[in-house]
Amino acid sequence: MICIPITASKKKEALHAIERSCRLADFIELRMDLIEDGSLAELISTARDNSSLIKIIVTCRKKEEAAPAGRTAGIKNAGEKTIDRKIALLKEAIELGADFVDIELTEGRAAIKELQSFCAKHRGKTKIIVSYHNFKETPALTKLKEIFHQCAKAKPAIVKIVTFAKTAEDNLETLSLISYARKHSPKIISLCMGDKGRISRAVAPLLGNYLSFATLEREGQSAPGQFTVWEMKQFKKFFIGRRSASLTPALFLRKASPQNYVLLGNPVGQSLSPLMHNAALKKMGIAENYSAFCVQDLGSAIQGIRGMNIRGASVTIPFKVAVMEYLDDIDDDALEIGAVNTIINNNGRLTGCNTDWLGLILTLQEAMPVKGKTFVIIGAGGTARAAAYGIMKEGGFPVIANRTPEKGKILSNKLNCPFYPLAEIGKIKADCLINTTPVGMYPHNDKSPVKASALGGYKYVMDVIYNPLKTKLLKDAEKQGCHIFSGVDMFVNQGAQQLRLWRGKEPPLVLMKKVILERLNKIE
Ligand code: NAP
Repeated sequence: MICIPITASKKKEALHAIERSCRLADFIELRMDLIEDGSLAELISTARDNSSLIKIIVTCRKKEEAAPAGRTAGIKNAGEKTIDRKIALLKEAIELGADFVDIELTEGRAAIKELQSFCAKHRGKTKIIVSYHNFKETPALTKLKEIFHQCAKAKPAIVKIVTFAKTAEDNLETLSLISYARKHSPKIISLCMGDKGRISRAVAPLLGNYLSFATLEREGQSAPGQFTVWEMKQFKKFFIGRRSASLTPALFLRKASPQNYVLLGNPVGQSLSPLMHNAALKKMGIAENYSAFCVQDLGSAIQGIRGMNIRGASVTIPFKVAVMEYLDDIDDDALEIGAVNTIINNNGRLTGCNTDWLGLILTLQEAMPVKGKTFVIIGAGGTARAAAYGIMKEGGFPVIANRTPEKGKILSNKLNCPFYPLAEIGKIKADCLINTTPVGMYPHNDKSPVKASALGGYKYVMDVIYNPLKTKLLKDAEKQGCHIFSGVDMFVNQGAQQLRLWRGKEPPLVLMKKVILERLNKIE
């Protein structure tokens, strides 16, 4: 399992790192000795809002057991806290329901016991990690075993022993400790820091090390020698041999299956993507096929893409976020948005991209400039994030309006833009309103996320929904004299961009829109 330490000193960056890490890792470690101005409650609730599965470790490393200046890139120490302040902070983490609190062995038995009884009072949800960090050297195995037993004496859930490798052989000591410790009760994290200790970080998971620590970016290491989360995932694939093209070339040399492109979603029965993509492929003279698959098990579906040499895939609800962990690379746009709707298969190497933001921006730009304009985005889900990303990238200003204020605020904080509860949308003045919620989608054609009376101030109104073609929101907006955009153009533009990424050729946009409109008119 992978843990990403959150090391940013400023709250905004820390929250952003939490959001990204929750999608990529099993654990996050909140380094309260490094995060300067974030409240623990906000940091923990942001993680929980982003993932119900993420495990949270809270720690406040003492100075002697944190990476010394110059050993890590881009890390700023917030100044050491007193032991009383530190215990109070870890108790707060227990009250807030953190999964683990980590305390150093050197803080003493009394401090560890105090935290343990506090955990017990709070129904024991939070578990204790007792840790030992040595930034000078790696003691010999006999000494490491002694340290392990000193840590284990307090009966924590996990013992963590991290030492500095001066020689490559030091890795053997910490790796040997894993097999030894696994015969005893607490779970073990044992590895070496520093460049010479990197071998242990790559190999330790194979020996049963409970957690590997990794960074989001090369900068932001909480300890020297850490790999990035992507590198750790590559090691996992390499050693487990699940999906490395170089390990299993025969798999990727098989003849291409007739299903060259697929849509992964659940449900997919109503999707118009196969109709649009097959018409486009035919017109482009490409004898390939696009099919929709209702997916039960996402991991197996991704294996299928690799195994059957499928060239590309579209990803739709509910997998746009979940799919990220199965891919080899994520491009910058998708990583920033936090969702993937397109996969490119390059000889077994799967790259995740997002074309929703471009689909939306190209649609707007057909009728209005984005730069300098203000856009009210209704919703705070995946499409809202893609819309806001595109608008900001093009020099526009988003304002978030959402039904659930907490979710809306998380997004607006991340974007550093204003937030309004949906009920107060009438108070906002802006150039364009964009609905990114499913309100008004077939068969609920009579619903709109906004009262007609609130639409008068907008020059432009867009709905990302394309079935029905003209939603109640768009009908109301048209009556108020607004220029309206239906979700059809966004749908066609995002699909066209997928074809450009898969085939490197310009797709037949007019035909793609024609087949979609014909089908939607038939449905209506
Ligand atoms: P999502 O991540 O689940 O987000 C949905 C958002 O809608 C949330 O912010 C949610 O608010 C809000 N919402 C849901 N029901 C609501 C209600 N009854 N009243 C007010 N707000 C409500 O979904 P998504 O992936 O962004 O997709 C949203 C829509 O975009 C879907 O209809 C999808 O088909 C469409 N879409 C269209 C295109 C296109 O090419 N045209 C592309 C992508 C998506 P809370 O935070 O309060 O739950």
